[in-house]
Amino acid sequence: MKEISIQRNIKQLRGFLSSQGHKATKQRHAIVEAFARLEDQKSIEEIFKIVRKKVSTIGFVTVYRTIKLFEQNGLARKSYLGDGLRYEPLIPEHKNIYLICSKCKHSDKIDPVYVEDFFRTVSYKNKFQSHSIDIKIHGLCSFCGTSFH
Ligand SMILES: [Zn+2]
Repeated sequence: MKEISIQRNIKQLRGFLSSQGHKATKQRHAIVEAFARLEDQKSIEEIFKIVRKKVSTIGFVTVYRTIKLFEQNGLARKSYLGDGLRYEPLIPEHKNIYLICSKCKHSDKIDPVYVEDFFRTVSYKNKFQSHSIDIKIHGLCSFCGTSFH
């Protein structure tokens, strides 16, 4: 995975934990870091072993609960493999927000950073595992409209 998407995963997972009122401890940082950097699906035992190399004092239950929390909130994907459960980060990749002018039909794609919190909150409140979002905002562009002149 590219470093830029890893950094985005880390940011999103940290943001989620703090939005849930979890303090940013060294343990949680290590879990987030290890989880965001997973190359493939891992069991919680395997994730625990990776995290323990960084923070030797971490307990299995802390890792277990954090990964479960990610999973319950649509930030981790769970798969059943032959010998048990595997987890991997599930970070929304597909976010498109367009501003569409109803007069000249010009469209602009805008920075999805504006919807990060919205996306997370809606997913969490509805217990929905969201992975993409498409928003079209209709109105008048700066050439056709007058309100910004
Ligand atoms: Zn226009």
